Amino acid sequence: MGLKRNRKKNPRDKDLTSQYLSGAMNEDALEQVERFSGRENSAQQRKMQQTALLRLAEEAADANIDQLPIGQVIQVYSLFVEVEFEGIEWLCVFRKTFTKVYEPPIVGDRVRFRDTGMKDERGKPEAVIEAVLPRQTVLTRADSFKAIVGHPIVANADQMLMVTTLKEPRIKWGIIDRMIVAAQGGGLRPILCLNKIDLLSQDDEELMRARQAMAHYQKLGVMTLESSVTSKAGLDAIKSVLHQGTTVLAGQSGVGKSSLIRAIEPNLDLRIGAISGYTGKGRHTTTSAKRYRLSDGTLVIDTPGVKLFGLWGVSRENLPSYFPDVEDETAPPWRQESYERILESLPG
Ligand code: GDP
Repeated sequence: MGLKRNRKKNPRDKDLTSQYLSGAMNEDALEQVERFSGRENSAQQRKMQQTALLRLAEEAADANIDQLPIGQVIQVYSLFVEVEFEGIEWLCVFRKTFTKVYEPPIVGDRVRFRDTGMKDERGKPEAVIEAVLPRQTVLTRADSFKAIVGHPIVANADQMLMVTTLKEPRIKWGIIDRMIVAAQGGGLRPILCLNKIDLLSQDDEELMRARQAMAHYQKLGVMTLESSVTSKAGLDAIKSVLHQGTTVLAGQSGVGKSSLIRAIEPNLDLRIGAISGYTGKGRHTTTSAKRYRLSDGTLVIDTPGVKLFGLWGVSRENLPSYFPDVEDETAPPWRQESYERILESLPG
C-alpha cells in the first residue's frame, strides 16, 4: 500500500516541472537537493526532498508574483475562473493551497495570473491565478432575510443600478430600502431606476406617490431615474450613469434589466449570455453573476439569479447610519417601517 502511494505521481510534480522549465527556479539549490537525494532513497528522505523542492518552487513563484499581469474575473465556474486581460479571455485555475489562505476569486476580482502556455479545447489560453488583489467593494448574496452569512459574489463594482417597476411586476419598496443598505454596506453607490413608465399615465396616483418617494431618496443622496424601453424615455440618462463606473444590475426578474441593456447595446443579450459559455463537465457557473463589456468599454455586471443581497458589514449598531432620515426624525412612515424590519432581521 505504502509502496503504491510512493510510486504514484505527485500532482505537484507537474507544477514543479513547469516552474523549472519557465526558469522560475533556483537551479543551484535544486542541484543540492538532488545530490542529497541520490544517496539513499528512504521514505523519510524522499519526503524531505519533496518538501525542499516544494519550498523552492513556492519561493520562486512567490518571488515574481508582483510582476505577473493583472486581469479581472468575468465569470466563476466550479473549477475555472474566466479572466479578462487586455481584451483576451483566459481560463484560469487557482491553486488548492491558495484557497486555504484566501477566499476563492469572485466576479470583478483583480487577479495576478501566470500563463501555463496551454490552450483549452476552444483555444482559450490557460493560466493559474496566483493572487487576488484586495477588494475595493464587495457585494454579497444572502439566502434569506435572516441569513447571517452573506456569500461574496461581486467585487470592485462602483455602483448598483436598482431597476424597478410599478406595474408588471409591482414594486416592493421594502426590497428597495434593503438593496440601498446592501449596496452602501459593500461600498457601492445605489441608483434607483423606475422602468416601464410608459405603462402609467402622468396623473396616475401611484406614479405620483412613487415620485414623492423618489424625491425623498434624492434628499438622502440616492440618484433616481425614470425610464421606458418602449418609449425610449430616460435611456440617455441611463447611458451616462453607466459611464460613471462598473455597474451591477439589480432588481427582480421581469422589471426590464436585459431590455434596458439591449436598448443601449442592441447586440448584447444578457439572458443569452447567462446560459452560454462553458457547459462541459465541471464548468457550470457557481453564481450567475457575470461581467459584460459594452462596445464603448462600459462594464456592467448582471446578477440574474440573485433575489436578495446580503448586508455586508451592517449591524444593529451601525444600521442607523444608513438611515439618516430615521436618525434625524424626517423619515416618512414607510421608511421608518423599512428601518425597523431590517433592524429586526439583523443578528442581535
Ligand atoms: P429582466 O428579467 O429584468 O431582464 O426583464 P426583461 O428585460 O426580460 O423584461 C421583461 C418584460 O418586460 C419583457 O417582455 C420586456 O419586453 C418588457 N419590458 C421591458 N422594459 C419595458 C418597458 O420599458 N415598458 C414596457 N411596457 N415593457 C417593458
